[in-house]
Amino acid sequence: MNPIAVIGAGPSGLAGARALDRAGLPFEVYEAADDVGGLWNIDNPRSTVYESAHLISSRTTTEFAEFPMDSATDYPGHRELLAYFRAYAAHFGLTDRIRFGTRVTAVEPVGDDASGRSGWLVTSEPAGGGASVTRAHSAVVLANGTLAEPNVPAFAGSFAGEVLHTSAYKRASVFDGKRVLIIGAGNSGCDIAVDAVHHAASVDLSVRRGYYFVPRYLFGRPSDTLNQGRPLPARLKQAIDTRVLRAFTGDPTAFGFPKPDYRIYESHPIVNTLVLHHLGQGDLRVMPDVERFDGHTVHFRGEHDGDGPSADYDLVVLATGYRLDYPFVDRAHLNWTQASPSLYLNIFPPSFNGLFVLGMIEASGIGWQGRAEQADLVAAYLAAEQDAPEASAAFRRTAAGPWPDLTGGYDYLGLDRMSYYVNKDAYRRQLRRRIRSLPRPAGAAAGGGAAVGGAADAAEAADAADATVAGEGARA
Ligand SMILES: Cc1cc2nc3c(=O)[nH]c(=O)nc-3n(C[C@H](O)[C@H](O)[C@H](O)COP(=O)(O)OP(=O)(O)OC[C@H]3O[C@@H](n4cnc5c(N)ncnc54)[C@H](O)[C@@H]3O)c2cc1C
Repeated sequence: MNPIAVIGAGPSGLAGARALDRAGLPFEVYEAADDVGGLWNIDNPRSTVYESAHLISSRTTTEFAEFPMDSATDYPGHRELLAYFRAYAAHFGLTDRIRFGTRVTAVEPVGDDASGRSGWLVTSEPAGGGASVTRAHSAVVLANGTLAEPNVPAFAGSFAGEVLHTSAYKRASVFDGKRVLIIGAGNSGCDIAVDAVHHAASVDLSVRRGYYFVPRYLFGRPSDTLNQGRPLPARLKQAIDTRVLRAFTGDPTAFGFPKPDYRIYESHPIVNTLVLHHLGQGDLRVMPDVERFDGHTVHFRGEHDGDGPSADYDLVVLATGYRLDYPFVDRAHLNWTQASPSLYLNIFPPSFNGLFVLGMIEASGIGWQGRAEQADLVAAYLAAEQDAPEASAAFRRTAAGPWPDLTGGYDYLGLDRMSYYVNKDAYRRQLRRRIRSLPRPAGAAAGGGAAVGGAADAAEAADAADATVAGEGARA
């Protein structure tokens, strides 16, 4: 059997390598950067974290269940997280099995056979340039990240000052003495606004809709560690959490934000109340949606065409998010429909062609353990394909029926960025159910290296951990 290729050594790729190793399956990891950690390695050219970036979900709800962080920090910063991923890779013997500095440029089916039955050819080149190499693999696990390719909307007119997407933002000195407009108030936009107020001449934040602002701490504890145990029904959780937020953070419309036209958790909540604090201090202003640029002037939408406010800026930061990108593989192989691939459980192309996607989940509070459970399922499926073909065929049949509801009863906004959004509890429940439906990998003992003996065991361990992971920590 040719080794399975894993593309990326960020949290998802590391989890993939770990799960394949534990299942006793041969694998090779391709990583374009010269270290593990993915976007948490600020020196990775594809990293989209900035100097002030910390976890948004808290440590205990985010870490891998089988490898708790050696830290007392509730919301560790990116440097501590990089050290964690290095320790994880070293502990499980993964570091030496990663081809660092190797960028994958093409993934193609052997002999043009789109069924993938003959395997896949992975072409890579040294990240610094050089001759490319093509290797044959029995399957390919794509874990190249979802938050690297900037989403840059089109605006009317043109801006004469500097324009920066959050993906290129690293440190606050870029704001020194400038009139700054940040477009978009997602988690990154709000973090960056807070950075900017200490450096810029002025900071405005342009928003299209209202947001829910969740404090990092509630009742003295990281907010996503509250509400332990079984998840509440969506409507009940929305009703309770809306009241709790009203009590703790007040009404964001009092700070100038529009009223959200959706319920809490129907879009990503913002885990940042510093932005409200700075609005209260007059360090920041909320502006409406941008109508058009004209030189250094930005015209904002008003109630009627042309009657909105306008202001002049030196620097515009586009906090407009990211779009999915798997540039090295033909979209047909991933069953792309509109903004994202349409994959069974956000992992498996419905044709089961030997490609598997890890990390293609947007969710509030799913953490790296959720990504590890994806990896466990992929490893269990690949092991079953090899050792228990009837079990893998039964698994494939589940994908032919109606796909499970992964929304948890939440009515998500119909936006591109929500097209692969899942509810963490509904999603992880499905993953564990599917893991249990597959046999324990026969090669598990040989490929182990840690106390946990197989994917199903990892899921059980995570079940136990889940007793404290029912909160709603949110991602950028
Ligand atoms: C500011 C910020 C805050 C966040 N906060 C949280 C949080 O609090 N909690 C949380 O759970 N998540 C958070 N996230 C989400 C974050 O995406 C995940 O934590 C995690 O990094 C996803 O891991 P990944 O391995 O899927 O992707 P990435 O971390 O993006 O790793 C992908 C890897 O693939 C490599 N790669 C890409 N293309 C190729 C190629 N062609 N060839 C070879 N290698 C390639 C990259 O170099 C990279 O190392 C945050 C993200 C940001 C930007």
